[in-house]
Amino acid sequence: MKELGLFGVTIPEDYGGMGLDLTTYAMIVEELSRGWISISGVVNTHFIGSYLLIKFGTDEQKEYFLPKMATGEIRAAFSLSEPEVGSDVQGIKSTAKRADDGHWELNGQKMWVTNGLLSAVVFVLMKSDPKADPPYTGMTCFITEKEPGATENSGDFAGLTIPPKIKKMGYKGVESTELVYDGYRCPPERILGGEEAGLGQGFRQMMDALEVGRVNVAARGVGIAQRALELALRYSQERKTFGRPIAQHQAIQFKLADMGTKVEAARLLTIKAARLKDAGERSDLEAGMAKLFASETGKEVVDDAFRIHGGYGYSKEYEIERLYRDAPLLVIGEGTSEIQRMVIGKKLLERNKI
Ligand SMILES: Cc1cc2nc3c(=O)[nH]c(=O)nc-3n(C[C@H](O)[C@H](O)[C@H](O)COP(=O)(O)OP(=O)(O)OC[C@H]3O[C@@H](n4cnc5c(N)ncnc54)[C@H](O)[C@@H]3O)c2cc1C
Repeated sequence: MKELGLFGVTIPEDYGGMGLDLTTYAMIVEELSRGWISISGVVNTHFIGSYLLIKFGTDEQKEYFLPKMATGEIRAAFSLSEPEVGSDVQGIKSTAKRADDGHWELNGQKMWVTNGLLSAVVFVLMKSDPKADPPYTGMTCFITEKEPGATENSGDFAGLTIPPKIKKMGYKGVESTELVYDGYRCPPERILGGEEAGLGQGFRQMMDALEVGRVNVAARGVGIAQRALELALRYSQERKTFGRPIAQHQAIQFKLADMGTKVEAARLLTIKAARLKDAGERSDLEAGMAKLFASETGKEVVDDAFRIHGGYGYSKEYEIERLYRDAPLLVIGEGTSEIQRMVIGKKLLERNKI
């Protein structure tokens, strides 16, 4: 993946990346997820980190991080969630407090961090002003560096511990971890966008990044659904019951028809959202729709392909068994389906006020 330049697809060429657009990135993510969704997971939060730097970073932050991120020399993680908070991001409890020497002291526990162990940099949301009202105006994104692979950081990065990887039902090719910040000292120049421009902007910055993150998860949904469709098309022509391939039974053919139609519709919604974003137009509604439909499609099409495999789908010898464990993540990460519906409903009403 490093040799192919996949860590720098959307990073500008000036910083050593490929400088490609979101639409091309979405097509790459679809193809990676068709092979193995975990592989796409390795680059996905890394991509969100680079988006944050490109859009909000200071020149110094871009020059320091982007060239190393473009080559994959360092990997990035993106951290909002906490043990008690996922959907309701404004409810985070982790704090950042300014010390006498101007550094910020970070404390708190983060949860479900993709690339949590192997990353060298984590874009982490902290409460920098606990009294802010509304709460999101008192949140800041800190760019925290760490030693890749170290469970206990020391020296400049002391105060950041990574507990053992979370054991998961699927998505096993990329690690998910907690992060424990306990007196971690972050210099003020590592506030995303710089202290003056970035303090109190973290929530807005990270919600902006989630919009492209949603296109990214939608593309994953298309990729896994495409693979499940391919497996079902093959198996249904090989497996015979009642004297003919099961693909010749109308009930199976109708299932295949619905699966193929949903995959195509999910792909079109995803590409539309990506193209709008690339054109600099509003894409919040479209990204929410693409994420909702494509992630649910991923799960449903995998489920149908699993059923078509009969008993063999339950065996680890068949690829569909892995897809069946990987797909449910899609309807959770980057905002659950319920949260997408909240976003879509709100945006629809905003755009159609009477
Ligand atoms: C494998 C994996 C990797 C992840 N990677 C990352 C990562 O890299 N960085 C990161 O920050 N997070 C990550 N997450 C966390 C993920 O973003 C959250 O799990 C997700 O946002 C849901 O939050 P929650 O788990 O706290 O569920 P909750 O917010 O507790 O929600 C529980 C249920 O209630 C529903 N619900 C919540 N609020 C409402 C409402 N207002 N109306 C209706 N229904 C509602 C939800 O849809 C859900 O069904 C990851 C999660 C997993 C499983």
